[in-house]
This record gives sequence, C-alpha cells and structure tokens, in this order.
Amino acid sequence: MQRYFIPAEQWQEAEVKLLGEDARHASKVMRMKEKERFIVSDGLGRAAVAAITAISDNSVEATVCEMLDTNSEPKWHVTVAQALPKGDKMELIIQKGTEIGASHFIPFVSERTIVQYDHKKEAKRLERWGKIAKEAAEQAHRSVIPQLDTLHSWKQMLGVIPTYDLVLFCYEEEGRRGAEQGLRAIVSHWHAGRSKALQTANVLIMIGPEGGFTHTEAEEAKAAGAVHVSLGRRILRTETAGFTALACLMYEAGEMGGI
Ligand code: SAH
Repeated sequence: MQRYFIPAEQWQEAEVKLLGEDARHASKVMRMKEKERFIVSDGLGRAAVAAITAISDNSVEATVCEMLDTNSEPKWHVTVAQALPKGDKMELIIQKGTEIGASHFIPFVSERTIVQYDHKKEAKRLERWGKIAKEAAEQAHRSVIPQLDTLHSWKQMLGVIPTYDLVLFCYEEEGRRGAEQGLRAIVSHWHAGRSKALQTANVLIMIGPEGGFTHTEAEEAKAAGAVHVSLGRRILRTETAGFTALACLMYEAGEMGGI
C-alpha cells in the first residue's frame, strides 16, 4: 500500500489530508479513487490506514480506518556522520541509509574535504535532502523520517561524540593492524557487554571524505571517545562505507529479518 508522510496539522482526529505533491502523486501517478486506501504517517511514529473520501489534483481527504503498529523502527538509533562528499553523492547516502534504517544524518567538514560548501544554499540543500529522506522513508515503510542536520565543523563533530553510546570511527588504516579492530569484533563485543535490559542504543558511524581522515583527526576522535574500526581489507568509496557499516550494525541488532 502506498505510504505518505504528512505534517501533524494535516491529521485532525480521524481525518487526514494530503496536499501539494503528495495529492498530485496520489491522484495523477497512482490514479487513486474514492474509497481506495493508503497508509498515512506523521513522521513521528504515528501511522494508520486511511480511506479516501474526496480526491482532486491538489487535495485528498481521507478517514482513518485502522491505526497501525509502528514497530518497524530499528531499536538502535544510528546516526551516519558523513564527511561532505563530491557531487550529489550525499543524496545517495541519505536515500540508501534511510532504507537500511539510519535515524539521523550529519554532514561535516574535515581536513581533506574537497567540495566548497556554499552556505547560502544551505536551506535549499536541506530541503532537497529532506525530500529524499521523506520519499525513501515512505518507500521503505518507515514510520519516522530520519533527522537531517546542518553542516557540522570538525570541532562540532568532536563535541557530539561523547553523547553516543558507541562511536565507530571508520578508519581504513586499522585494516592493516589485524582483526581486533574489525567492525564485527568491536560491535559484537560492545553488544555482548551491554545489559539485556537496554533495548535501545545510540550509535554514531563516522565516515571520512574521498581522501580519508588525517592521522590527527583519527587521534582527536579517539580522544573524544570514538573507536577506530576497520571495514575490512578492501577500501570502500566514501559513499559505500556508511551504508555498509550501517547494514552490519542492523544485522547485529537483529533488524535484518529474524533474530
Ligand atoms: N584514504 C583512502 C580512501 C578513503 S575511503 C585512499 O584514498 O586510499 C573514504 C572513507 O571511507 C574513509 O575515510 C573511511 O571512513 C571509510 N572507509 C573506506 N574503506 C574502509 C575500510 N576498509 N575500513 C574502514 N573505513 C573505511
């Protein structure tokens, strides 16, 4: 069933409304008619099946018929902190990361960041990224749209590290040192050491830019509480590394089907 995220104010008691692009999508692309059903979600965890009572090109009115259980959200909240990549790679990272189960994205600047970030375009960029996250969340049947942060400086990044339960600083240099700094060893050891009563966790994955992190950055992140991890002997592109680490975390959390 098609899923749409709507702002909370378009959901009044048992009445929901699709407007703008969502209404156009339902009427023009999906060619929905009265009585047809779709899933509606407020992006904050509330979701329901709604049946259409009136439809036009720019507005769809529907009545809630059934509230849905929204436990499709991963129990580990994973933030992907990504050194700003070239071109439109960040869009791919947000789209795929949302499908796999990321809860939050933080783009940041590091020493070897190549792109010139135009701060004047920040609002537009965030709007575009927000649209991608919303569409990916709809497509993936998430009940929450991941949070998107504004561009962080390296100093700000160091400041958020201590607020997480586990920080995986993905560092290809570790691959040469042996298996104990491998993602699998670190995550499963951390998981096994946690109290079983603790269901949720906040995990941060940090990915460097095309040229990688500098040695100084690696040391600073470690001093702030991050753990250096290797994703194996193959070097992944910056846009591949984040969702690879994310998928491995979701697997360890039992979020990839079965347990
Ligand atoms: N410096 C490298 C490439 C960096 S890859 C070079 O040019 O040879 C970009 C980012 O992806 C890295 O900063 C790291 O965060 C992540 N990454 C890629 N492959 C990795 C691996 N095998 N182990 C850990 N992190 C990896």
